[in-house]
Amino acid sequence: VDEKDGQAAALGYKADSSKVDGKKYAAHKAEQNCGNCALFQGKAGDKAGGCPLFAGKNVAAAGWCSAYAKKG
Ligand code: SF4
Repeated sequence: VDEKDGQAAALGYKADSSKVDGKKYAAHKAEQNCGNCALFQGKAGDKAGGCPLFAGKNVAAAGWCSAYAKKG
């Protein structure tokens, strides 16, 4: 998904978790990324995978958005 896509922008999605605006998203932590988010649909080790918030599109395993939920 493109970071500028309406839904992605609204959720503060970045393909690189380290580029997330920490002032705007104080809940963001460095170790959080799509790859360890409960909503990520890719397999462990996949560089990208689906996310129910972005139907039909892939998110980067190294990415992050404000709907992040810790897996497990
Ligand atoms: Fe990534 Fe999780 Fe946000 Fe989906 S909900 S974009 S997997 S952080």
